[in-house]
Amino acid sequence: MPVSIYKCSKCDFTQPSDSLWGECDYLLPNGIRLPMETARAWCQDCSRIVKMEDFQSCIDAVSKVFVQKSNTLRAKPVRHWWDLHLFIFLWKWKARLQAWEQSVYNHSLASADMDELQELISVRKSERCLECGSEAVSRFSGEDEHPHCGGRIYSETLAVAGSEVWVSHRFVIDLYSQDGLYIRTDVVNGHPFPDYLYREFLQMENARIRGISIPASAAKMFNR
Ligand SMILES: [Zn+2]
Ligand SMILES: [Zn+2]
Repeated sequence: MPVSIYKCSKCDFTQPSDSLWGECDYLLPNGIRLPMETARAWCQDCSRIVKMEDFQSCIDAVSKVFVQKSNTLRAKPVRHWWDLHLFIFLWKWKARLQAWEQSVYNHSLASADMDELQELISVRKSERCLECGSEAVSRFSGEDEHPHCGGRIYSETLAVAGSEVWVSHRFVIDLYSQDGLYIRTDVVNGHPFPDYLYREFLQMENARIRGISIPASAAKMFNR
């Protein structure tokens, strides 16, 4: 990914953007992991641009999953008497039904996570800086005033001799308690984004912890 640098129009403040990369998850005491949404912010205690928890985006993500789930439930395949081919080629009908059942199952895993995320957010009072845990954070739009300085912070793509500088990081996920306090960082296979099925694997692990039964076909895919 190309690296950009935040600079101030008035003072010599500089900050590379790659400290803001990576994803964050909540890690509950029982091992369940829930996806966190983050926003860029100015932290008064860090005196720089940080990632902060973003409760509103979490709530949006929760309702999006709930809508997808109810749409899927409503889209149950039906076989009318005139769908003759579905009676003759029974495998076609079964495949269609199976695909739908799999999709319902996936959505039920996702919505179990979202139920817990909603619960977690509902008892929290304020969002934290994900660097230091401070609650003295304010959202940063990308071109804001530099606090206590009065200059404007802007971002510039880092270039050396006219070429953009690209950095390839291992993908990392920072884990936080349900109170938004840092626990540890996990390195994930794949960069700049986690390997395909990484999120699905986490959902499956959550299901295991909750004691939800996992269909053999799905479990086979994740045995590694
Ligand atoms: Zn400044
Ligand atoms: Zn901070």
